[in-house]
Amino acid sequence: MELFKPLNLDKVIQNKEIENVENIKCLIIGSGPAGYTAAIYASRANLKPLLYTGLEMGGQLTTTTEVDNYPGYPAGVTGPVMMEDFKKQAERFGAEIRFGIVTDVDFSGKKYKVTIDDKKIIIADAVIIATGATAKYLGLESETKYAGMGVSACATCDGFFYKGKDVAVVGGGDTAAEEATYLAGLCRKVYLIVRRNELRASKVMQDKVIATKNIEILWEHQTIDLFGENGVEGVTLIKKKGTTNEEIVKIKIDGFFLAIGHKPNTDVFKKYIETDKVGYIKTVPGTSKTNIAGVFAAGDVQDPHYRQAITAAGSGCMAAIDAERYLSELK
Ligand code: FAD
Ligand code: NAP
Repeated sequence: MELFKPLNLDKVIQNKEIENVENIKCLIIGSGPAGYTAAIYASRANLKPLLYTGLEMGGQLTTTTEVDNYPGYPAGVTGPVMMEDFKKQAERFGAEIRFGIVTDVDFSGKKYKVTIDDKKIIIADAVIIATGATAKYLGLESETKYAGMGVSACATCDGFFYKGKDVAVVGGGDTAAEEATYLAGLCRKVYLIVRRNELRASKVMQDKVIATKNIEILWEHQTIDLFGENGVEGVTLIKKKGTTNEEIVKIKIDGFFLAIGHKPNTDVFKKYIETDKVGYIKTVPGTSKTNIAGVFAAGDVQDPHYRQAITAAGSGCMAAIDAERYLSELK
């Protein structure tokens, strides 16, 4: 009697490979408002969606406290609670939600091959990309220390909390100009911290900033640190760094807004999916369609303009409907 059968390694490897390959109809990448909304619509349309959450389960809103501008929550809601609600609603209709990061894609065939965590392969008939965009920070320790306590990367989201107060915006591009102008309508005073002696923003936006009385531009200033006992109370700046006129300047503020750009999370798709020069996925206007039929994009990853939870959710709905129509035409 043969007690120990020699192991057939080829077979083991083959089986392991088979186990690691899964064929599905609809894959959703990302677990922010766009991804979960796509999952709600796709599961209700019987697409049996599989959603991979990425590292940040629930997306950007899990890094904030109060969300006061999302309809349906009259008393407001915290970001983490809201995203848990989104997840539960998607699961209620059968969406499968798994933790995992997309590490590679191959969109060259009729079916789309997506690698998860460098080891698992998903073969999908349709893919919805909802990987968001990440705000850039200066990299100061105090930005982390005061996160949610005076530091924000979204004036539309948090400006309201600084009504009648003094704030600073860092950056010199269109976003900074737009955020400073928006905040000027709410706050007593807005400092615009610009590292060079000119703005990068378009002429029309520059004119708007300059014409706004309660915006003061601090030219050639760079941020060194933030200070405060219970949240941001001020910012330390260096003026004309590296010149003989170099000077340390401290200003009192209640809120510090970053507006130095966003990085769309698209590196892994760039080989196949067309993006603009910043990296945002280009979609056919009024739809979620990308340059590849069957691959759709929703949320901040394709939206350089609005970047709000409600717009992300709306475009997640569009992507699921576009995917459903695409799949029904494939049959
Ligand atoms: P995100 O929420 O960014 O989610 C992206 C998802 O993609 C994440 O789950 C991430 O893990 C996943 N992902 C990324 N790469 C991969 C990968 N390779 N593989 C798998 N998954 C991946 N908006 C409002 O409307 N109201 C507010 O009050 C508000 N407050 C905010 C406060 C803060 C601090 C921040 C940062 C943003 C705030 N916003 C607010 C903006 C709002 O969070 C975004 O507009 C919204 O979350 C965008 O949703 P999304 O689904 O497109 O992407
Ligand atoms: P951006 O154009 O890249 O500008 C980023 C700004 O932040 C620049 O002024 C840059 O300074 C500054 N900056 C970068 N790193 C910094 C640092 N470490 N310290 C201090 N300052 C720093 O980004 P954006 O303003 O987000 O715009 C992105 C794109 O969206 C642009 O194409 C823009 O036109 C577009 N946009 C359009 C509108 C609109 O039309 N309404 C609104 C928003 C955005 P330097 O200038 O010195 O490099």
